[in-house]
Amino acid sequence: MSDDRAGELAALGVEAAGCTRCPLAQSRTRVVFGVGDPDADLMLVGEAPGYHEDQQGEPFVGAAGKLLDRLLGEIGRTRAQSYIANVLKCRPPNNRDPLPAEIEACSEYLRRQLVLIDPKVVLTLGNFATRLLLKRDTGISRLRGQVYPWWNRLLVPTLHPAAVLRGGDGLMEQVRADFALAHRALAEATAVADPAAEQLGLFE
Ligand code: URA
Repeated sequence: MSDDRAGELAALGVEAAGCTRCPLAQSRTRVVFGVGDPDADLMLVGEAPGYHEDQQGEPFVGAAGKLLDRLLGEIGRTRAQSYIANVLKCRPPNNRDPLPAEIEACSEYLRRQLVLIDPKVVLTLGNFATRLLLKRDTGISRLRGQVYPWWNRLLVPTLHPAAVLRGGDGLMEQVRADFALAHRALAEATAVADPAAEQLGLFE
């Protein structure tokens, strides 16, 4: 990443830290912007901060985060070698689902993160991130298990680690298979710099 882009990402984080675009600004403890390598070839997108993330200001530091670290470890990665962000940067009260208006208010931050980090592969965790980026209403259990071309990059949708922790037949095998798919996609993807990336209406 050029110094300019790194500076822009840092400036975006500062902007997000003071964000008042939606009412979650009043109930949050900390804005959870994102963490990891700004030059990462893999970017993971979750749903929204939970209690621990809201306290610490870092995504996926609770139980779901431990599972995420394990899944990354199984494909030979650490979180520091990837970039992790959420659809919402602020915790919804009692971890309720994000509201459409909150997603709309917040999605510009994610769009700019994606453009600046410009990963080769995006791994969406759960329904909210997958729906927003892939623009499909189909549920995650039907969409997962495949690699999708996405703005000259690749997108791999998978289950949210919290859903895996809640349990269900074969969910761990499914999420593992999707991480392996993302790993293969990374190996196969050629770095495609998209000169039009800044213009992409990712969420239009
Ligand atoms: N769940 C998410 O989607 N994101 C987090 O950061 C933590 C839990």
